[in-house]
Amino acid sequence: MLNIVLFGPPGAGKGTQSEKLVEAFKLVHLSTGDIFRYNIKNNTELGLLAKSYMDKGNLVPDEVTINMLEAEVKKYPEAKGFIFDGFPRTTAQAIALDNFLESMGTSISLMLALQVDEEELIKRLLLRGQDSGRADDTDESIIRNRINVYNEQTAVAADFYNKQGKFHSINGVGSKEEIFDRLSSVIVEKNR
Ligand code: AMP
Repeated sequence: MLNIVLFGPPGAGKGTQSEKLVEAFKLVHLSTGDIFRYNIKNNTELGLLAKSYMDKGNLVPDEVTINMLEAEVKKYPEAKGFIFDGFPRTTAQAIALDNFLESMGTSISLMLALQVDEEELIKRLLLRGQDSGRADDTDESIIRNRINVYNEQTAVAADFYNKQGKFHSINGVGSKEEIFDRLSSVIVEKNR
């Protein structure tokens, strides 16, 4: 299996690049943010819980997120591989994902980390907020909190993959095609 963690701060382009990568490499795209938003839209209990954290730009608790992610993975027994977008966001989630994948006889192949500087992220998110309908993209103080949460709680998860020799830093500034080419060449090289 080809299992990729697409990593990076909010606004780095994970969603956009995931769409292109799933098509090119025939993978299943799992975005925990999208799954939470789907639950919010459908007024589920999980959605209600997630919303209270997401509206402030804080992380949904690990246990809830991990259980949800594992249930999603199990829905695709025929998958050739997954792109994990927005997960893991803490070291605890990374450890849980490793253990879970091991129990399924597979593992993470690589982490691709998109690098974009902070002012560019804020610019992109405010622009996205104009038509994404996402409340957490319209308020600059919530955007800044999401970036702080990334720096304080999420960025460390990269060390976990770095120690396993799976971490790859990718310049996330450029055209969609340029960034896609950078990501795909690492995948192709690693998959050889
Ligand atoms: P995203 O769509 O990836 O930007 O995620 C939007 C929001 O969903 C985040 O700000 C968090 O509140 C929540 N969220 C998404 N993925 C996770 C995760 N892996 N762990 C905790 N919270 C998450």
